[in-house]
Amino acid sequence: MTVTQLGMPKVFHGTGNIVAEESFTSFAGRELKNEQLRANLGFATHTIREKRANVVGELPDWEDLRTAGSEIKQEVMARLPELLEQFEKNFTERGGHVHWARDADEANQIALDIIREQEVEEVIKIKSMATQETGLNEFLEEQGISAVETDLAEEIVQMGEDKPSHILVPAIHRNRSEIRDIFLKKMPGVNPDISDNPAELAEASRHHLREKFFRNKVAISGANFGVADSGTLTIVESEGNGRMCLTLPDTLISFMGIEKLVPTFQDLEVFLQLLPRSSTGERMNPYTSMWSGVTPGDGPQNLHVILMDNGRTAALADEMGRQALHCIRCSACMNVCPVYERAGGHAYGSVYPGPIGAILSPLLTGVEAEENNSLPYASSLCGACYEACPVKINIPDVLVHLRGKDVDAKHGKGEEGTKRQAPDQMDAIMAGAKAMFSNSKLLGLAERGLPAGRLAAGRDHKINWLPGLVGGWTKYRDIPEPPKQAFRHWWKKNKKNGSKQRAGSEKVDIDALMAKNAGLADQLHNQHASEAQDQREGAEKQAQELKKEQRRDPEIARRENELLKDTESDSAENQGKAQGSQEGRD
Ligand code: SF4
Repeated sequence: MTVTQLGMPKVFHGTGNIVAEESFTSFAGRELKNEQLRANLGFATHTIREKRANVVGELPDWEDLRTAGSEIKQEVMARLPELLEQFEKNFTERGGHVHWARDADEANQIALDIIREQEVEEVIKIKSMATQETGLNEFLEEQGISAVETDLAEEIVQMGEDKPSHILVPAIHRNRSEIRDIFLKKMPGVNPDISDNPAELAEASRHHLREKFFRNKVAISGANFGVADSGTLTIVESEGNGRMCLTLPDTLISFMGIEKLVPTFQDLEVFLQLLPRSSTGERMNPYTSMWSGVTPGDGPQNLHVILMDNGRTAALADEMGRQALHCIRCSACMNVCPVYERAGGHAYGSVYPGPIGAILSPLLTGVEAEENNSLPYASSLCGACYEACPVKINIPDVLVHLRGKDVDAKHGKGEEGTKRQAPDQMDAIMAGAKAMFSNSKLLGLAERGLPAGRLAAGRDHKINWLPGLVGGWTKYRDIPEPPKQAFRHWWKKNKKNGSKQRAGSEKVDIDALMAKNAGLADQLHNQHASEAQDQREGAEKQAQELKKEQRRDPEIARRENELLKDTESDSAENQGKAQGSQEGRD
């Protein structure tokens, strides 16, 4: 007999380079000591931030554009299955092939199969977050295929055997002289006298890549947007290397997350205004490439798109968190984030760093994924990311929501089937605090430690080192010196001696105090009354001046009319003279 299982389908979480190997706290602790990194990041983020503010300030309808972007993305999330099928139908009808990948491994395998059919050992690539997410380069290398990055910053990262630290400027953590050193070590045929002048470095890269563009038959790209009603893919870029990859090879394989769709071409218009302004601080990006299927004799004839889930469906199922899928990868949130600016991109352990990484990575992998559960805490909740986001993703709200999910998961209230994790340091500290504050004897015992605390504080009245579990607190902040006496002791003593004290020398003279305060109250009352009077008079004066202006208006209008009449008669006279000269020429 066949058994049919009823119930909800299994949730598939994302895999690949979105799972941190180390917690944010411990990685960031090390990165904070890297002063060069902080200087590079500070300079780069502040420069982009200023450029962005200038071009955004030029648009009177910027807020309307943000609202439109947010609403289009909400529509996409609500109609995702239908739009994906529409995209697939249109892309296929125009000669392309559509592949569906559940996770990073499936996506990489599909790409490998297509590359193998072409019998090549090298492919060229345009920068793509989706392939970084799946770890495609490393995977292909294991299979004996080398993937050459053609974006300048990606090329620097690849040659330096490094990891990207920013969505848009992957080598933001490197300065010019570091880049020169990498080129000298790794770029074949580079001029040994090359300087760290950006133009010279770019020229060297151009020479190196030109030959790769002409030689390779297979290219790999990502996609910024997919238009459902025409089956069009779009890439926006600044260097032109993308245009070469997208047009010169015979075979083009594009990786696209399923959330990157927009319903129509008209919707694309909104994002093509939002993206360049928010990312590079430009009014328009230099290269926008769009392709809708195969055109005989022009561009790649073997066209593939891999539509990748990799945890996006799981993120979509989270009502509050799904807005993270609206992200257009502009990186504006990173450039304004005080935590990112100090800790750098590598500390997030995922290809998605900064505020968006702090919510997107745990949403894709599930917040229960051990090392990603520290990411929602990588924020001061200042809200700067929300203000900067061109599609209004409320990152602070999602961070708080994910922190709640993390706490629930640790206490056995997470996703169905999630086991309670072993208590961590924070659980132990909280359990100890709970026991102490709910038991008077234990609290009394703890209070006996106050003199020792004062002794530890020393001359500067601060405790700046604690041992063991609680040492994490004093690593980044000081604890003020404890008081001489616990409040409970003070209260006990003063309550008991209260009547005696009032009768004794320390007795408060209530009458004198009241008399003094009464004088103070009168003084304050008079001061407020005089301020209020000044304000009233000022307002009346302003109102009178306004009335005068209004009365003057008809007068100004009369004078303007007269002036206008004079001007008209002058102009008629001049016109007559001009006509006369014209007639004279004829
Ligand atoms: S979350 Fe918003 S600001 Fe950050 S990268 Fe995505 S779209 Fe840009």
